[in-house]
Amino acid sequence: MTTLTSHGTRIMKGIPASPGIAIGRAFVLSTDSPSVQPDVLNEHEIPVELARFATALDATTTELLNAIELARKESSTVISIIESYVLIASDPVMTSAIVGRIKKGVPAETAVLSEFDVHKTILYGARDSLLRERVQDFEHVMERIIAALRNRTLSHEQAGNSIVVSGSITPQDMLFFKQLHTLGYVTEIGGINSHSCILARDFGIPAVIGIRNATDIIESDSIVIVDGFAGIVIVNPETDTLNEYITKHREVVEYRGRLGALVGEPTTTKDGIALTLKANVDSPTQVDAAIMAGCQGIGLVRTEMLLVQIGRYPTVDEQTAWYRDIAERAYPLPVTFRAFDVGSDKFRDGIPHHEENPALGLRGIRFLLYRPDIFENQICAILRTSANRNVRLMLPMISTLEELEIAKHMVEKCKARLAFEGVDFDPEMPLGVMVETPAAALMAPIYASRVDFLSIGTNDLAQYTLATDRTNELVANIFDAMHPAVVRLIAMTVEAARTAGIPVSVCGEMAGHAAATEMLVGIGIHELSVSPPLLLELKHRIRSVSHADCVELVKQISQCNTTTEVYAVLGSLQSWRDGGESSV
Ligand code: PEP
Ligand code: MG
Repeated sequence: MTTLTSHGTRIMKGIPASPGIAIGRAFVLSTDSPSVQPDVLNEHEIPVELARFATALDATTTELLNAIELARKESSTVISIIESYVLIASDPVMTSAIVGRIKKGVPAETAVLSEFDVHKTILYGARDSLLRERVQDFEHVMERIIAALRNRTLSHEQAGNSIVVSGSITPQDMLFFKQLHTLGYVTEIGGINSHSCILARDFGIPAVIGIRNATDIIESDSIVIVDGFAGIVIVNPETDTLNEYITKHREVVEYRGRLGALVGEPTTTKDGIALTLKANVDSPTQVDAAIMAGCQGIGLVRTEMLLVQIGRYPTVDEQTAWYRDIAERAYPLPVTFRAFDVGSDKFRDGIPHHEENPALGLRGIRFLLYRPDIFENQICAILRTSANRNVRLMLPMISTLEELEIAKHMVEKCKARLAFEGVDFDPEMPLGVMVETPAAALMAPIYASRVDFLSIGTNDLAQYTLATDRTNELVANIFDAMHPAVVRLIAMTVEAARTAGIPVSVCGEMAGHAAATEMLVGIGIHELSVSPPLLLELKHRIRSVSHADCVELVKQISQCNTTTEVYAVLGSLQSWRDGGESSV
């Protein structure tokens, strides 16, 4: 989508492919689009044409092999990517088919284009989006062979310190551009799975893809802003917009700098036990902050926040757009969408009448099963979002096996519907449940054998275990997830997941609480999901504890009879609601 303002500023919306802000002059990389020539060769021209093709193929392979050498210093991902190009270029079936065409009198360029077209058409027809995106690999190799046939190679030098605008960008271009300190990328095509996008993220270079006709619309040397968080490209910005983005760019750099020391560090205890750190988010923009802080995925998207935001149940398309925004910003990191947890103190539209005791009423999965129309729409929207294979679905407030089984059946029904409609989705999309009722924790061994992952919601697990309204100040002194009963349920859940061989995380507030880290590590939790600003502090704490000490600590906690005793063992008498975060 393009908007042209009266000041000649163009604002274009594409797909955010690599986070960050880049501001600079455009370098438009236009390659002649090769077209099929109808000519037929004379008999004597055939050997010349065969030799020309052999030389071009040789030059292409040499260029690719040189790029592999360059890649050895940069990224191992790139090596395998370029190796896959070499495989395409040297595929004997493909090359002998091209040679066969030339021998029949077809000029080399036409033979190359026609043969690659056959393969591209097959890939385009694939249901699997990953396979479809491989069309670009074929296109890159084809463009290179054609360029070599025309004795024309791209001049990378001009791209230094600028924003590259191109139809597509190959990984080997990326390597050269990185060396020249290219500021950002804008491309016309390219899925977020494309190798070049993976590289842009690896190299930390902001990129927006999928801007149609970018190479026609954007002129070389014009000032361009690339907002790789939102997927926006602004050409010839007005002064105010430019200043706003200069400030945003500076803030991003400063923020990264402050937290930078820990961002790239592993989340490993002193004795080498690795944990996964994910983020809880309520909106697409929060994903950016989480990624900047180096999270390893989004462990909880509270999708009911979309309902709160728009005040009604959205259509499948509206939901899909919101979920995609989140999943694409996080890609390739996994994102766990929790189905609407409506009811209780949250969004209440659609609850048929006033409930005396809403926290124990039609909440979470109970409401979703009561309104299968709303639930199925959401499942379909999340499945639609799953095509890139980085999406998981999580069920809130499960307390009976029947709820889980009916929900699973509805997911299968939605998959069948989408498959029938020819919609692309991940047929293996992982399904998990939240353990936030005592029933779910006690039944965890059964549930764990029927799902792909568990996630412990300590906020509600405490509320329901202690029969204490989490929002009621009058009983706030009782509401504490550090109560031994809650801790035991957490430990039972972790054990059930371990036995079933599935991952288990904690996504309730306890995950980010300073006093709880050692206990959770000692219990055997390997994944924690917290709000983005807590990520680095939590990483800092994990890196400063020893797993062996934590295990010893948990042995002592298992002897505790009261919340106060638990805090005493943890060396902190401070209630977690009073805060108490340590500083980085
Ligand atoms: C929880 O209950 O711990 C949880 C993460 O879910 P929510 O806070 O959204 O109820
Ligand atoms: Mg909850």
